[in-house]
Amino acid sequence: KILVVGSMNMDIVTQVERHPVPGETIQGNETRFFIGGKGANQAVAASRSGASVAMAGGLGLDSFGADIRKQLTEDGIDLNCVIEKQAMTGIALITIDQSGENNIILSAGANGKYGEDEVDTLDLTGFDVILLQNEIAQAANQRVLDKAAAANIPVFLNPAPIAGFDHTQLSKVSFLILNEVEAEELSGTRIDGISQALKAGKQLLEAGLPHLIITLGSKGSLYLDQAGTEIEMPAFTVDAVDTTAAGDTFIGAFAAKYIAGDTLEESLRYATAASALAVSAAGAQSSIPTEDQVHEFLQR
Ligand code: ADP
Repeated sequence: KILVVGSMNMDIVTQVERHPVPGETIQGNETRFFIGGKGANQAVAASRSGASVAMAGGLGLDSFGADIRKQLTEDGIDLNCVIEKQAMTGIALITIDQSGENNIILSAGANGKYGEDEVDTLDLTGFDVILLQNEIAQAANQRVLDKAAAANIPVFLNPAPIAGFDHTQLSKVSFLILNEVEAEELSGTRIDGISQALKAGKQLLEAGLPHLIITLGSKGSLYLDQAGTEIEMPAFTVDAVDTTAAGDTFIGAFAAKYIAGDTLEESLRYATAASALAVSAAGAQSSIPTEDQVHEFLQR
């Protein structure tokens, strides 16, 4: 069973002709609500890939919290470790202009109120792996890493967003999963293609990290480990419509297959197909494919 400890948000997305300047009021064209947050997205991806998944994190006592509960429950995710906080549910206010460029304001709300005390109440018995991101309090992540180490449970960490990430957390991570920007930031190496990613990855492994995956958008992904294994997995060629949650889909799908006993290559290939499907459709969680859809895609 997979435990995801992380963020759950309501994304409020408005289309605008252009972004407003400070002090200006403009008309929005259409506003839509989407359930997101990296934690919730990764949980949904793992669940749709056939894994048994539980989510831990904070929701507000408001209608957004209720909407998120309903959707994640429909996705078969166990919410017994989700705690209700005296705060608003996490909200992302997103505007997208005609050229597709977005402005995002993230209000952590209940995600930021999920801290060490809440982690202390978590019972890790029965979990095979824990997925973490960087959208809840660092202190909470740190406490999860300590508890997981004591219980001998591997942690997959995706330190996104990377801003403000505490590098000392890396020593307790089993699988580190980075996109290009995050790998650049952590390694200090500029990455523009597989060869630089390989160089940056090897540098990161020297710090003692057991397993590392770097995802490179349409260029695919790279897996490296301490045993010297190197796997380059090219992306599938698809018409990319919306790349939101590509990385989250990849991570959830990979974790689901890997703990189910698939080989590294099989798990990477499956995750690559799942994320290719996710970018081929609009939306974040709504575009995360099921296991059947991924198998059908792989058979084409
Ligand atoms: P993030 O969403 O975290 O920035 P990436 O952009 O690296 O992550 O995407 C994660 C994975 O999704 C990639 O390794 C790749 O397999 C797949 N992917 C992303 N963009 C595309 C694309 N344009 N075409 C096909 N696959 C893609």
